[in-house]
Amino acid sequence: MLGEPAYRARQVFAGVHQRRLCSFGQMTDLPGDLRAKLSERAVISTLTLESRYLSTDGTRRYLFKTHDNFPVETVFIPEDRRDTICFSSQSGCPLQCTFCLTAQLGLLRNLTAGEIVEQIIMALNDAYGVSVRTPRGTNLVGMGAGEPFLNFAELMKAIRIMAERNGLHIVPHRVTVSTAGIVPRIRDLATIADRPHLAVSLAAPTDELRNELMPINKKWPLRELLAACGDFQKSLKAGERFTFEYVMLAGVNDSDEQARNLANLLNRHELRAKVNLIPHNPAEPLAYQPSPRERVETFRGILEAKGIQAFVRRPRGRDILAACGQLAARSATGQ
Ligand code: SF4
Repeated sequence: MLGEPAYRARQVFAGVHQRRLCSFGQMTDLPGDLRAKLSERAVISTLTLESRYLSTDGTRRYLFKTHDNFPVETVFIPEDRRDTICFSSQSGCPLQCTFCLTAQLGLLRNLTAGEIVEQIIMALNDAYGVSVRTPRGTNLVGMGAGEPFLNFAELMKAIRIMAERNGLHIVPHRVTVSTAGIVPRIRDLATIADRPHLAVSLAAPTDELRNELMPINKKWPLRELLAACGDFQKSLKAGERFTFEYVMLAGVNDSDEQARNLANLLNRHELRAKVNLIPHNPAEPLAYQPSPRERVETFRGILEAKGIQAFVRRPRGRDILAACGQLAARSATGQ
């Protein structure tokens, strides 16, 4: 690096990732002339903050713009014992899930590993201040805009960078990546030793309904998806999580019969993953409404009675449009 010894690169890496500094000028452990040279030739951050919303429950939601003006959404969710940051892997999304606003943007572009990591740094700096040590551990979920497994190489690179001890030091064990069901990448993930946790978004217990809600199902129907999940399950190590996500849409996928079908489907494939029931965040112009609380509880009870562990995810940041894609899609359509 500029004819400097290797340890200078480690100092710069730690400055950007561990100390979360925003400019080379702040890296006072570097000689002044090196700071000046770096400032002339490189930039630390490429995302700019477009808008920021603070929920009454403490959730913070960000709309960033990339250097080439594409939207990136990130959500920071404080909890008692940890913070969770939901990051985006793509700007927009090429998949056409009918309950998701991001789908309406289409794919704008894949994010780089740097842009994925930067979302975390910017959210932590906003919540705690530049360079301030975080009081709790940070969990990450790749459930923002985009299908992470369609940007697999950059995603995995970002996860490796974030795990660095002299960087953010957020190890893969603290990261969960959610896929709409990109079967070949589920199989690839199964071969990686140091990997994030897997979550698979199901949204329907039958191909007929899933084709409608998540058209990716036409490419990889439930039989193939659940077979890949079964193979992934065989590769699980002690303490590793694997979950199914099921967004609850009133009158669409939340009946007693659908709960029984879902339980039977998972039992037939001998999948022991837990199911997270996710209250849908209603968003104009989408036609769906969230299932009423009692319906979600009944649905959960049916799953449990059939031996499937099921949990209801608490909705966060509803007052600030915290469902994935809501900010970018709204700003794109001028709402
Ligand atoms: S739910 Fe996820 S995968 Fe489906 S369109 Fe939205 S961002 Fe893409």
